[in-house]
Amino acid sequence: MIKEKIIGIPKAMSYYNYFPFWYGFFTKLGIEIVLSDSTTKKTISDGASLVVTETCLPIKVYVGHVLNLIDKGIKNIFVPSIQSIAPKIYNCSKIRGLPDLIRNVVKGDFNIVEATLDKSEKNNNLIDFVTEIANQFGIKDMQTIKEAQNAGFIVQNNFNVMVQNGLDFDDAMKYAKKGQVIIPPKKEDKPISIALIGHGYNIYDKRTCMDIIKKLEKMDVRVYNAYQLTQEQLKGGMNSLNSTLYWANQHEMTGCAGHYLQDDKIDGVITLTAFGCGPDSLMVEDIKRKSRNFNKPLLNLTIDEHTGEAGFITRIEAFCDMLYRNKRAKIMKEREKEVKITSMI
Ligand code: SF4
Repeated sequence: MIKEKIIGIPKAMSYYNYFPFWYGFFTKLGIEIVLSDSTTKKTISDGASLVVTETCLPIKVYVGHVLNLIDKGIKNIFVPSIQSIAPKIYNCSKIRGLPDLIRNVVKGDFNIVEATLDKSEKNNNLIDFVTEIANQFGIKDMQTIKEAQNAGFIVQNNFNVMVQNGLDFDDAMKYAKKGQVIIPPKKEDKPISIALIGHGYNIYDKRTCMDIIKKLEKMDVRVYNAYQLTQEQLKGGMNSLNSTLYWANQHEMTGCAGHYLQDDKIDGVITLTAFGCGPDSLMVEDIKRKSRNFNKPLLNLTIDEHTGEAGFITRIEAFCDMLYRNKRAKIMKEREKEVKITSMI
């Protein structure tokens, strides 16, 4: 049993989807959370040095964050194994085997707090998953565990509502942790809008994605992503592309693309994927093929630890220039049409 009521959480992978839940859950149980520091060049190179080159960037980053927590003297590090979130809906093998991977590559004086969520083989529910975690801290009372789970849901729901209403990720996290819900005023329109398709750990980790959202905003672009959509909208997006759900994180790629491809306010789509990611390469191929029916330009950006910022910016700028030109041509065409109609009257 773990005596010290402190848990380290790597600021990587599922942090970007579920940290608000874990914040509410652990806080309610009286367990203090220590987060790893934000990703730096060192985090990436430390992580990359321990795994084989072909490993995707997010996993290298994750390993780097575990090392960072060990450097901070954290003895218990949370590394869940999220195998399957619904019957026959799986995560990739790297996410499923995360505790084993960490155990095998990271040597040091620390303990892995692990639990398995598997709706396919074991048919265990979220309550079984969180109970397995609480038990490791000697917390066995089911009423206490259920209350902690509910506290987690509240923080997560508040966070989701704020992000869906356009609040930035960091601000939404800050307010959700304080138990607040802040709905920002509607943002002013921008000349062009882009749907950024990618997993949370790719688009919100400012170091790994070279802060692509900020870069696009500086180019006067309004950026939309999967986290601004509800589950129903993401499911609708999957249906509109006639895609069948297999991967646990497919909604944030295919579902998101399907939703925004049929949205008139979106001028273009950028997919951001990690080099060496099997599921993403399949999903992006599917999105690319089907996007031709929607007549929206699509740019695929692949990132790894060697991606140079200059080339990255050039590709984004070229894409935005093309979208600006398309938009101008479209407006001119519509104006010509209006003039013709007025002169006929
Ligand atoms: S889904 Fe892709 S990027 Fe994410 S962990 Fe798996 S292989 Fe890596």
